[in-house]
Amino acid sequence: MNPSERVKQLTELLEKYNYEYYVLDNPSVSDAEYDRLMQELIALEKEHPELLSPLSPSQRVGGQVQDEFKKVTHQRMMLSLANAFNEDDLYDFDRKVRDVIGDKVTYMAEMKIDGLGMSLVYNKKLLYAATRGDGTVGEDVTSNVITIKSIPSHIDADGDFEIRGEVFMPKKSLAKLNAERELTGEPLFANARNAAAGSIRQLDSSIAASRGLDAFWYYFVNARDFGIRYHSEALAFADKMGFKTNPERRLCHGIEEVIDYIKEYTIKRPDLPYDIDGIVIKVDDMSLYDKLGYTAKTPRWAIAYKFPPEEVVTKLLDIIFTVGRTGKITPNAVLEPVRVAGSTVQRATLHNEDFINEKGLMIGDYVVLRKAGDVIPEVVRPVVERRDDTQTPFEMITNCPECGMPLVRKDAMHFCVNPNCPAKQIESIIHFASKDAMDIEGMGEKVVEQFFNQGFFTNLVEIYRLFEHRDEVIALDGWQSKSIDNLIESIEKSKGNSLERVLFGLGIKEVGSKMAKTLSRIYGNIDNLMNASEEELLEIPDVGPVLAQSLTSWFTKDENRELITKLKEAGLNFNYLGSTSKAANSYFSGKTVVLTGTLDSMGRKEATEILENLGAKVTGSVSKATDAVVAGHDAGSKLDKAQALGIEVLSESEFLELIK
Ligand code: NAD
Repeated sequence: MNPSERVKQLTELLEKYNYEYYVLDNPSVSDAEYDRLMQELIALEKEHPELLSPLSPSQRVGGQVQDEFKKVTHQRMMLSLANAFNEDDLYDFDRKVRDVIGDKVTYMAEMKIDGLGMSLVYNKKLLYAATRGDGTVGEDVTSNVITIKSIPSHIDADGDFEIRGEVFMPKKSLAKLNAERELTGEPLFANARNAAAGSIRQLDSSIAASRGLDAFWYYFVNARDFGIRYHSEALAFADKMGFKTNPERRLCHGIEEVIDYIKEYTIKRPDLPYDIDGIVIKVDDMSLYDKLGYTAKTPRWAIAYKFPPEEVVTKLLDIIFTVGRTGKITPNAVLEPVRVAGSTVQRATLHNEDFINEKGLMIGDYVVLRKAGDVIPEVVRPVVERRDDTQTPFEMITNCPECGMPLVRKDAMHFCVNPNCPAKQIESIIHFASKDAMDIEGMGEKVVEQFFNQGFFTNLVEIYRLFEHRDEVIALDGWQSKSIDNLIESIEKSKGNSLERVLFGLGIKEVGSKMAKTLSRIYGNIDNLMNASEEELLEIPDVGPVLAQSLTSWFTKDENRELITKLKEAGLNFNYLGSTSKAANSYFSGKTVVLTGTLDSMGRKEATEILENLGAKVTGSVSKATDAVVAGHDAGSKLDKAQALGIEVLSESEFLELIK
């Protein structure tokens, strides 16, 4: 691949990751992986300056503004920070600072709190709280931020006062929140940063209030208006004003002291009650800031040292096997409990037999463990040097650990093909009840397992007869009449769901939630879909031979047809409740569309739904793959980008005309 193609590829990848991270609060790759790709892009752009675009992710603050919130233009840009990954990068930063200001420099070293940047603007009282957004325009999230009890609503200072800091979720709050979400079957937050951002971006402030958030304030923006010259002094002043500043900060004389501080906190990091992902180093004398200057994205008077992904060594005690919904067998490492990146780990997936053999793992080995994306524990390699004669070779099982039936190997994976295997049934019920499927509130993994083992339901149809076991449930520990009644009500409510939910919930191989929606829209009800031939299905965009085959073979099986009949008898709806308008004839059919700005006639959600019903794919960020951008008023950077890329831009009235 030539450099220009690679730059294009990296740009697209980083834009996609930015969207997942900043808009969805749900990253799909680790920060370390993101940083690695960004460094590669920066190096390529340095080597080939002709490939550097002002729109490159290396040149812009990564966040985006969501239209659900009122927008705030920052009085001064809210920038990101340049990164340092090792001592060389730190020496390099120090040299550049000294090139401008001479002498040995005094730096303030601070915790780099892993949360969400926030600006508070006061004039005696809090006027607003705003997120960083794209650096120029942020989101007004005042109603959520004031639920954080440590933030003063009034201050004893005259005139405008702006302070910036990080809203974060303490480790304890995150553990509690994820435990609750696990119980109700909601997806867990990947890390404290995403949990904090997700909580602050709630439209209902009672949700933010319930999430146990806190905040540290680290930059008094207009300190110089108050006659303050040093950052250290500004933080002390902020303290006096009643803001919570981080007590671990330290003034360091010269870069060596900074490096010692980093070493100290690399060790202390796991014991802090909040997550940090690095150390921020700032020149203490703020009168030098203008002289040192800024890039488009970062100040030159500060840098963020990022910790390498944390690795620890622990013992692989055993390898056990779990059975998934599709019968897939997953080997799991049972580890001697160990703390890594802030939590105790005792299990890690080993994916499949080949993964274990390629790594050469033996039971009883010491293994290197790290957290990918700071959440998912990953066994990196065995520590071969620590082997004695107690290790035993790994052997793949040949029979299902739950039902004993012989396993079948397909590619790298082993499957239990027994349709009545209890483990598969539990997993399929969990999937059926999950958020994107039937969304049965209160029926998460633990509840399903408990009720399955008690025999209250062993298949999908029996879920709808749970009420028959009401008294038995109340007799169980932890259940009261209110909790079971709520659950029964959620189950009843799910009967009315539109077709795509139940279709996805059935767990037909290859049918994800998006495909379930497409099929539902096209066929309108389950009977039409059931009778569709493979050839007919293949005419649908996005449906390939594997999916078409999987669907038709699922629907030809008697037991599946019977399941649908029984679910219908139980009262479930199998009709599509959205609009079935002829997507194929629409202007938007097959196009990738981005919505930006505010539409007067409808909300973002409604517009998305209409577009999707007309066969469009609605995405959150503009790229070369975008066919059209619908721009309401106050459209921001997405509109600029669409214009720069020559993408069709539709005004609200044009959009309304086309969807008529
Ligand atoms: P950053 O996280 O590298 O650093 C800048 C931010 O640090 C500031 O905006 C501020 O909010 C915060 N901060 C915390 N403590 C601070 C302190 N004491 N002083 C000053 N600032 C402090 O930069 P960013 O632009 O917010 O995010 C980029 C990073 O986010 C990437 O390097 C990557 O690690 C991560 N990211 C990951 C993905 C992914 O898909 N995993 C995607 C996008 C970004």
